[in-house]
This record gives sequence, C-alpha cells and structure tokens, in this order.
Amino acid sequence: MAGLAAAHRLEQLAPDARVTVYEATNRVGGAIRSETAPPGSVVMEAGPDSLLARKPAAVALVEAVGLADDLVGSHPAARGALLYLDGQLMALPPGVVAGVPLQPERLEASPLLTAAGRAALMADLGAPPEAVSDDVSLGAFLARRLGEEWVDRVASALLSGIYAGNIRELSLLATYPELAAAARHGSLIRGLAADRAAHPPRPGPVFVTLAGGLESLPRRVAERLKTPVRTGAAVKTVTAEGARYRLSGELEEHVVDGVVLATPAPVAARQLARLVPAASGLAQVPYANLAVVTVRFAPGVVVPPGMTGVLAPPGAAVALTAITFVGQKWAHRADPVDVPVRVFYGRADGGPRAVDVLAWSEAHFRQQVAADLRQVLGWTADPLAVRVHRHPAAMPQYLVGHRQRVAEVEREVARRPGLALAGAALHGVGIPDVIRDGQAAAERVVRSLDPGPG
Ligand SMILES: Cc1cc2nc3c(=O)[nH]c(=O)nc-3n(C[C@H](O)[C@H](O)[C@H](O)COP(=O)(O)OP(=O)(O)OC[C@H]3O[C@@H](n4cnc5c(N)ncnc54)[C@H](O)[C@@H]3O)c2cc1C
Repeated sequence: MAGLAAAHRLEQLAPDARVTVYEATNRVGGAIRSETAPPGSVVMEAGPDSLLARKPAAVALVEAVGLADDLVGSHPAARGALLYLDGQLMALPPGVVAGVPLQPERLEASPLLTAAGRAALMADLGAPPEAVSDDVSLGAFLARRLGEEWVDRVASALLSGIYAGNIRELSLLATYPELAAAARHGSLIRGLAADRAAHPPRPGPVFVTLAGGLESLPRRVAERLKTPVRTGAAVKTVTAEGARYRLSGELEEHVVDGVVLATPAPVAARQLARLVPAASGLAQVPYANLAVVTVRFAPGVVVPPGMTGVLAPPGAAVALTAITFVGQKWAHRADPVDVPVRVFYGRADGGPRAVDVLAWSEAHFRQQVAADLRQVLGWTADPLAVRVHRHPAAMPQYLVGHRQRVAEVEREVARRPGLALAGAALHGVGIPDVIRDGQAAAERVVRSLDPGPG
C-alpha cells in the first residue's frame, strides 16, 4: 500500500514522469487481502479490516480513486470490546485513550482491578510533571504511572494488539508520543482528558472500511496508474549508475532517476546494502508472525450483544490474542446469512504462551480455534467454514530506540537525491500511516530531483 500510494502521488506531482511499480508477488496489496464470501455474507478480510477515520490519508485516497461510495462505518450499535481475563469475559471500560482510562472512576465496581490496582491507577491523578527525553518501554512507562496491574491486565491487551508486540519492549516515543507529552504536565489521565476536551473526536464512526473489501483500495490505485504494476518482479538490489539508480532482480535491469523503496525493513536493508550501508540498521527491526483464522457459524451461536470482539492480554490462559465479531463490528450487513468471526494468533511476546503460527498445520489451527472459541465463548457448534491466513513477518516491532534508528538510516538515504524509504517499518504501522508515508516519500523524491527555483 505504501508503494502504491507513493506511485499515485508521483504521478500527481510529476505528470510527465514514467512511474513503474515493481511487486515481488503476483498481486498488489501486500498485507491487505480480502476474500469474496458466499452470497449474503460479508466479505472476509484475510489481514486488516479497518481504517482509522481520524487519520485522513486513507479516506482521502479512497475518495481520490473514486471509491467513496464504498466507505462504510463501524456499527453504530457497537458498544466496545470484551476482555478475556481470569477465565471470564469482562467489559472494557469506555474512554481508554492510548492505554489510559480517562474516566478511572468508572472502574470502581469493575472486576478488572483489585483495590490495590485501582489505588495505583488513581495515584496518577496527583503525579508530578515529568520530562521524558530518552526513549523507554511503553509498558514500563505506563506501569510506573498507572500501576503494574492496569498494564498487565488491560493496557497490554489493548496496545499489544495493535502492534502484535510486547508492550514491555515497544518504544514509548515511536508508538504513543502523546503519553510523553501528557507526562510533561503531570497526570496522564488529566493530560489526555484535557487534550480530548480541546480536540474532541470528529463525529462519525471511529473506523471505516470498504464494502467490497479493503483490497479494493490497492487494486483501484494500481488500476489508476498510467503504467501497469509489474507483478512477479522482485527487486534484488538498488545500485548507483552515475547520479541515477540501477534496479536489478527478477526484471530486466532498469535505470531510473528516483526510487521509493516501500519494501519490508529487512528487504530494504538488503536492497540498499551497497548503495547505503547504513540501511543495515533497518535489519534490526524485528517482525511478528501473525495468523488470522476466519470462521463462519450457522445462526444460533450466541454473540455478546453490541460487542465488536474480545481481546486477550498476553497473560490470559488462551492461545488466541483476539476475536472480532464481524457482523457486529460493521454496519453494512446487519443481517448476514451466517455468523462470521475472525480469530487472531501470534504476537512478538516470546513469553511462555508464545505461539509459532508458521509451524502450526491447518489441522492444528482448526483444533485450536475450536478449543479456544469453546473456552472463551462457550461455542460448541461445528463451523460451516474455516479459513487460515498466515502472515509471516507481518508486523514490524518498534522497539525502544526505534525513532532514532530510523532517523539515522533516513539521514543517510536523504544524502542521495531521488531516493526515499516508505512503509510500515518506519513511522506508523496503520494503513493511513503507510499511505501518508508513501506520499511523503514521493514528495521527497520529486523535491530532491527538482529543487525548484532558488
Ligand atoms: C493481520 C493484520 C491485521 C492488520 N490490521 C490492520 C487494520 O485493521 N488497520 C490498519 O490500519 N492496519 C492494520 N494492519 C497493518 C497494515 O495492514 C500494514 O502495516 C500495512 O498494510 C503495511 O503496508 P506496507 O505497504 O508498508 O507493507 P506491505 O503490505 O508488507 O507491502 C510490502 C510489499 O513489498 C513487496 N515486496 C517485498 N519484497 C520485495 C522485493 N524484493 N521487490 C519488490 N517487492 C517486494 C511485498 O510483496 C509487498 O507487497 C494489519 C496487519 C496485519 C498483518
């Protein structure tokens, strides 16, 4: 998606340039992949399913390529998600922003925390201002401010889900810099609440998707490019050819004026090994392997009303990490012919319950998903259909020091006019982030090749 967004922007900025997208596999979209489902059911996403509406780049691209009529919002009746803890389902408190509960008083009667856990959380309200200049782990920072219990039982489920990582290893500054900003004024709870009040969320759904499947976005962008995407064409190396660049790999060699490299971090490090040796820093970004299992049940299974899904924190005694109730999350098919759920496995926690989703066979997944849904939801019905989608090396891990590592590599890359990096390993893993990143890389390439008057 980052590469396609870059190509789309390059064509806008430099209409006379010839832009070619090289894609190693036989399809565009990378992590974004949708499957057409039987008539009457919802399209099933093999990977991502949501665009965060608050970050405008994705919706703007959807509109620019003529897919606005396909945009659908999350279900207006959806009230939130459940946590699986202590062998039972518990409601997540409303109003948690960046892992911080903005209305901690609503946890008074909640079984989520012990009295000591609540006291640790409330202590944040009197916390003194703190300047966070050096990066620290997101989990350690939150635990110090809000207590270990809140982090282990709630924040880890919410935040590690987004990054499929271990919040005790993820970088505070690369994931939630707004927490460090809030700490400068004292209480995180008060700081984020004040920020919310000053910048209230826009009305409308928090998440949107595309009725025809999210994959229709990269496909449509590719169709709109002047030159068809070259699929099955892995680029192995990028080397200098005078002031230009030579691309080599499963393609006839191609010499170009500028390159946006929107490949996963270890691939980009290899591609640039000769041209920008400092890019080897990208190889230090580890990736988590994930799997999404889509399961369809005949009507009759009991879905907790109004809930979009279930999150399991790393400490929960279950292999899955999350469940999405597809029909209740999205409004576009209020009455599907079946009950589709998505079940997630894998994260980079390396803990005692670490799951190697790449080693599991199809049969193992089927057994595991049946056992897990029985355990968490009490569902014993046989599913109508099960599909396993593995995502090897799918989610880059922004470890402590990430921003600095990326800045060092980007500084070296920027010495070469016409060269730029983009993609999920750099400044944000969400689809809106990678679209913005691809567009910004295109802008840098054009600017550096044609700095303009003066
Ligand atoms: C299971 C899952 C669920 C997610 N859910 C969400 C969600 O709901 N919302 C959200 O916003 N984000 C979500 N994400 C994150 C988001 O989907 C990804 O971070 C984003 O799509 C990555 O885009 P990208 O272009 O940076 O990388 P990729 O999608 O990885 O694309 C990189 C491309 O480079 C190609 N390539 C690799 N090597 C070469 C080579 N040598 N030559 C040429 N091409 C090459 C690959 O084939 C691929 O097409 C999810 C991710 C996963 C895995």
